[in-house]
Amino acid sequence: MAKKACVMGWPVKHSRAPIIHGYWIEKHGLDATFEHAEVRPEDFPAFLAELGTRGFVGGSATMPHKEMALALTEPDERATAIGAANVIWLDNGKLRSTNSDVAGFVAALDESAPGWDRNADKAVVFGAGGAARSVVYGLLERGVERIHVHNRTPAKAQALRERFGANVVPTDDAQLDTAMSRAALVINAASFGMHGTPDLDVDLTTVRDDAVVADVVYVPLETGLLRRARARGLRVSDGLGMLLHQGPGCFEKWFGVRPVVTRELRERVERTLRGG
Ligand code: NAP
Repeated sequence: MAKKACVMGWPVKHSRAPIIHGYWIEKHGLDATFEHAEVRPEDFPAFLAELGTRGFVGGSATMPHKEMALALTEPDERATAIGAANVIWLDNGKLRSTNSDVAGFVAALDESAPGWDRNADKAVVFGAGGAARSVVYGLLERGVERIHVHNRTPAKAQALRERFGANVVPTDDAQLDTAMSRAALVINAASFGMHGTPDLDVDLTTVRDDAVVADVVYVPLETGLLRRARARGLRVSDGLGMLLHQGPGCFEKWFGVRPVVTRELRERVERTLRGG
C-alpha cells in the first residue's frame, strides 16, 4: 500500500510542501503520496490522534499548529528546546516529533555562504517568534557567542534569553546601530516583507563587509532586505533555501530515504512563487 504523508495547517493550500515532497517521491520512485490537510486548530488534536487510522505515516505541522504539535506528541530534545515541532511521524503507534526548521536555516546558510561561521561571533536577529527561536537555536549550536534580538514586543526578546541563556541579548533601538556594526550575521526572522508588508527598514551601510544577511521570508523570493544586502555586496541566504533544506529531515522520517535539495527542485518551487 502506498505510504501517505501530509502538511497540516490552517490555511494550508499555499504550502509548497506537496511540490517539494512530490518531487522527491518521484525522484526516488517511491510508492507514496503527499497531500495538503486543511485542519482547523480546534480539530488538530483529533486529526493527530487519527493520523494512523487515516493511513498517514506522518506529516508536517505548519502555522498555527507547531506549538500544539509539540504538546500532543513525544518531542525530541531539539523540538522541546525550541518550543515547537514541525515534523511528526508514527513510531510503533507512538506519535513522535522534532523540529527541522533549525536544520533548514543552517543548511541554507552553509549552502549560500560557505564558511559563514568561521568568524561569526556576533549576530543580530530581528523577530522573536517561532522562526526566530529556530534561528537562535541554530546559531547557538554553531557557536555564535552573542545574538542580539530586536523585536517589536521587547518582552518576547527577553523570553528568548530566558529560554536560551545569556548569549541572547535583547536589544533596543538605541543599542541597534552598535550591534549592527559588529555583527557577522544579520537575520530577518520576523514577518517583515512577507506578501507585500513593509520591509525591514534597517541600515546596512555600517555592517561589516564580510557580514552575511539572511531572511526567513520566502514570499517574495527576494525581500527588500536581501536586495539591499546584495546591492551592498554582502552574501545572502534566502527563506526559500531554509524551506527547501528543512525538507530532507521530514522526508527521511516518513519514507526512510534521505533526499537532496537540487537546483531543479529549487527552480520548480521558484516558478510557483513567481506565479509560473
Ligand atoms: P510568529 O511566531 O507569529 O512571529 C512573528 C514575528 O514577526 C514576531 O517577532 C512579531 O513581533 C514580528 N512581526 C509581525 N508583524 C510585525 C510588524 N508589523 N512589525 C514588526 N514586527 C512584526 O511567526 P513565525 O512563525 O516566527 O514566522 C515569521 C516568518 O517566518 C513568516 O514570514 C513565516 O512565513 C517565516 N517562516 C519561514 C520558514 C522557512 O522555512 N523559510 C519557516 C518558518 C517561518 P511581535 O513579537 O511583536 O508580535
